[in-house]
Amino acid sequence: MSNTSLYHLKQPTAWPENPDLFSFSSLMSIDTCPLQWQLIHSTYGDVHKFPARPNPSAVEGTIVHHVLDELFKKLAFEGLPELGSPEFAEAIASVNITGKVEALISEHENQISKHPRGGGCRLRTGTQQIVNQVIRLFRAEYPKAKSNAAAPPKPLNVSSLGSAVQLLPLLRERGALSEVRLAHPKLPFEGIIDLVRIDNEIISVVDFKTGAPKPTHRDQLLLYAVLWWRKTEALPKQIEVRYLSGTEVLTIDAPLLDECEHALAGRIDAVRSVLSSAPAIARVGEHCQYCDVRQFCPDYWINCGEESLDNKTKIKNIDIELTIKGHPGSNGFLAVTSNGSPCTVVYSSDGNKVHGPFSLGEKLRVLKGRITEEGTIEFLPWTEVFHL
Ligand code: SF4
Repeated sequence: MSNTSLYHLKQPTAWPENPDLFSFSSLMSIDTCPLQWQLIHSTYGDVHKFPARPNPSAVEGTIVHHVLDELFKKLAFEGLPELGSPEFAEAIASVNITGKVEALISEHENQISKHPRGGGCRLRTGTQQIVNQVIRLFRAEYPKAKSNAAAPPKPLNVSSLGSAVQLLPLLRERGALSEVRLAHPKLPFEGIIDLVRIDNEIISVVDFKTGAPKPTHRDQLLLYAVLWWRKTEALPKQIEVRYLSGTEVLTIDAPLLDECEHALAGRIDAVRSVLSSAPAIARVGEHCQYCDVRQFCPDYWINCGEESLDNKTKIKNIDIELTIKGHPGSNGFLAVTSNGSPCTVVYSSDGNKVHGPFSLGEKLRVLKGRITEEGTIEFLPWTEVFHL
């Protein structure tokens, strides 16, 4: 599908089936908005899954956190060595911060060069600046991580050992296993546990988080404890969420895990039921501003952008639905918003080529345009214009 026809899509040509397998994050995302999940996973002509638009700031943040995660995990697995020690230097060198950042930037640039929605999505920060961010955050947080967490024994990474491996004997032999992928034997649910360790016959399920603490982290680990229990029949006795600022430990038992498993089964049934009709229910909220398929969502567009037009001095970026009312020229046209307010749209000389062709009477959905203090709507390099 060409870039132009992507911006003329009105709705999916085929809605998705229910997923065969759920993860904690897919359940969260369907709970947040079932319609968004369906729209992302639908088919549009010859395109399967609507292409998500990379957001440069989010990509930069993801790169920083990805490398930080890797650094902290590596150092935790090496026993949290002292800053400046040979073990510390060896662990840092093995992560290769600059090489990793370079590889992730190049992967992003490569993706957007072929991406149908890649216009205006190049990163604005260079490799060295991102490396500096990683180092700054790491220097601030490592002493806290070191003083707040006991180091686990060096784990065996089991990600490549296959599902037939006997995990419990291996855990007893090695003391700790990392990257443990598990599927529930009866429920369609799977997850990857960062670390499972055993100490005096107490099995702990551990996850490392570099972000702020959230209750959902605990919920996720409880379900991972259920996975370990059902797969090995060995009951974990605690879960640990390891933040940089400290570790949250929760003692668990069979009745608690039974309850979590029961709730999981109910949640999967509910999610399957909500996804069984298409389009599914739309759950409008704050999250909509980051929704990559909002151009297809009728509920989102009810009054969208009108408030921004009334608060032009306060709001810069705007999503707005417009109907073209004047003959489109090489630099703009007159339009009305969905509630009939007149406005002027302007764009640079290549705007017609990038966003058009435009025709009189046509309805448009504009994502991330900019409104000036005079009430003019500008199409910028990162603006997207969908033709209805
Ligand atoms: S715009 Fe909001 S309500 Fe609509 S699909 Fe996206 S997340 Fe759901």
